[in-house]
Amino acid sequence: MRFTFTEEQEAFRQEVCQLLTKEMAPSAVASHRDPREGNGYSEEFTQSFRKKLGASGLIGIGWPKEYGGHGKDMLFEAILSDEMEYHNAPSIGRAISYIPAAILAYGSEEQKAHFLPRIAAGEIDFFLGYSEPEAGSDLASLTTRAVADGDDFVITGQKAFSSDAHHADYGWVIARTDPDLPKHKGISLFIVDMKSPGISLGGFNTISGYHHPTVAFEEVRVPRSAVVGEVNMGWYYIMGAIDYERAVIGTPGMLLRTFDRLVEHCKTTRRQGRLLLQDPVVRQRLAELYADVEASRLMSYWVASMHARGLQPQHETGLAFLVKRETVRAIDNIAVDILGPTAQLRPGDPLAPADGGFEHDYLDRLFFHFAAGGFDISRNVIASRGLGLPRG
Ligand SMILES: Cc1cc2nc3c(=O)[nH]c(=O)nc-3n(C[C@H](O)[C@H](O)[C@H](O)COP(=O)(O)OP(=O)(O)OC[C@H]3O[C@@H](n4cnc5c(N)ncnc54)[C@H](O)[C@@H]3O)c2cc1C
Repeated sequence: MRFTFTEEQEAFRQEVCQLLTKEMAPSAVASHRDPREGNGYSEEFTQSFRKKLGASGLIGIGWPKEYGGHGKDMLFEAILSDEMEYHNAPSIGRAISYIPAAILAYGSEEQKAHFLPRIAAGEIDFFLGYSEPEAGSDLASLTTRAVADGDDFVITGQKAFSSDAHHADYGWVIARTDPDLPKHKGISLFIVDMKSPGISLGGFNTISGYHHPTVAFEEVRVPRSAVVGEVNMGWYYIMGAIDYERAVIGTPGMLLRTFDRLVEHCKTTRRQGRLLLQDPVVRQRLAELYADVEASRLMSYWVASMHARGLQPQHETGLAFLVKRETVRAIDNIAVDILGPTAQLRPGDPLAPADGGFEHDYLDRLFFHFAAGGFDISRNVIASRGLGLPRG
């Protein structure tokens, strides 16, 4: 069997790659780095980059043409996401992929007309308001509530781990609308304008040093038109959106970028008189890693091709996502082993290999154990939906 891109897909990849090689050149981004931001770049740079992507017609590549898209499929979205990760572009995945995909699938015509053109132009961004202090893996135990009041809903509660909420124009927020229904029912999905009175931001600094916000809702009034799809059906919409989210963040560009950087280090660094790449143990570990990187690449495009064929992969997405995350952790761990004590040198230290990138990524990517559902949650999905095992 031969896995390959069509000529059109390959041409698209080249186009994206050329754009990103120029926009993300070290000299072009050097003055825009900001360690307080989750994606490592200043918000001004992220916004201008997002608008450039919009102007290039890349946002919405997979949407139907009547909503400002290009009518391509998920494979094109995966190629875009893959190249963005490889070039370490500002992560703007929420707004360019799974939120518009969910608006297309479940939103009203009014929501599509209002949000999609602005998303396509790179003008607006969202934060994902799912997790709460006491509702992470067990998301359906969320307690944020939205109470119907005339033509409005009034939202009160607390969201946690609200990535980039401090820059978001809108919240993609789930809240309980009927406490009397079973746990997974009675939840609704809202698009909340972040300028609404009653919203306040908190947050904390992560172990790798960037600010991670939390969002409190204190009697925040939103119109009924802010509900996505039907009231009390939000759980089913976000499960669809999460499968899509995992597919997009399962793309392998980050793996290859990290692997390439490690190989480059081994090609140029000597220990006890010889290049690291000449050490048989190092060579063997790199070869094993490369097999995992390649497996992850094939699995992520397998999942994207299922979406492109109109299928709804679930445990397959879990598999691809799990392999990617485990491979990222393996590369970070092996990098630390190979680098030895210099792996602890931080960005800015003149002796730090790759300007402290190894140390930064080792700490930063601890979040991969949890993002979009922990490792164990992925394994549970694979076991129950993929292998038909009883739920644990
Ligand atoms: C950097 C970062 C960014 C994030 N961004 C967002 C965001 O933008 N929006 C948002 O809504 N959320 C976000 N999250 C939250 C993320 O989705 C949650 O962290 C995740 O769902 C896990 O929830 P928890 O942290 O409460 O851990 P817990 O649910 O307390 O889990 C702790 C551990 O127990 C394991 N575990 C839990 N239940 C089971 C089970 N049934 N079987 C086996 N093992 C289990 C988990 O895998 C994990 O290892 C982010 C998290 C991080 C770290």
